[in-house]
Amino acid sequence: MSVPSCSVPVSIDDVIQQSLLTVRDRVANAARLAQRLPESIQLIAVSKTHPADRVAAAYACGQNAFGENYPQEGVEKIQALAAYRAHMVWHFIGTLQSNKTAVVASHFDWVHSVDRMKIAQRLSDQRPVTLPALQVCVHVNISDETSKSGVAPAALIPLILYVARLPRVCLRGLMAIPSPNRSDQHAPFAQLRQLLVRCNQILTENNLPVMDTLSMGMSSDLEAAISEGATMVRVGSAIFGMRTPAKDAS
Ligand SMILES: *Cc1c(COP(=O)(O)O)cnc(C)c1O
Repeated sequence: MSVPSCSVPVSIDDVIQQSLLTVRDRVANAARLAQRLPESIQLIAVSKTHPADRVAAAYACGQNAFGENYPQEGVEKIQALAAYRAHMVWHFIGTLQSNKTAVVASHFDWVHSVDRMKIAQRLSDQRPVTLPALQVCVHVNISDETSKSGVAPAALIPLILYVARLPRVCLRGLMAIPSPNRSDQHAPFAQLRQLLVRCNQILTENNLPVMDTLSMGMSSDLEAAISEGATMVRVGSAIFGMRTPAKDAS
């Protein structure tokens, strides 16, 4: 597959590239308002349900971090884009079943959705020795979250201490997916930031490395997330357009 240029006539690739520029502006503006450096926020382009050539269009505009929710679909795209693999960072952000940990551990660079010890243990055991440690975030189910996945805040500390001691994963941070229809956009993001501070105190007391990543904020709420300290925003529809609802049942 060839990477399209950044200046082809109007096409779907053009639309993606324009959308990407718009999202980058949103990130930069939110950073400025929060008196943060734009470079301190990484944009992950969530390409789930969109074909590999759309990923290539974003890559042609300098986007190199991509997020996928479904193991099989993600691996197919990673393989279709193997020519650029060394320059891409692939983030697994979907709910992870234990029978899918091996394929995720073998192909992705990051997993944002670790929510129990068994999943973390399997990812560590199954991470190929030829690859660097898998970078992981723990998915926290903050109060108003509608989905059932994610660890409850009350159970977070034991999970963090367990993941931090696994040999083949590197504990990097916390992730949350607050309900999109909440009245206060900021509250759950502020809560996740406070949880990160608390976890880092406990990690320090246990002589373990602290976490540096807050994975929070999507197309509709990335500004609120950045103002509350997000270091990674996961943006899908604002870059690639709407998804087919039937294929979006994560
Ligand atoms: C789909 C998805 C996103 C991106 O959502 P948009 O609203 O399209 O930006 C981010 N994070 C997770 C976990 C997702 O499943």
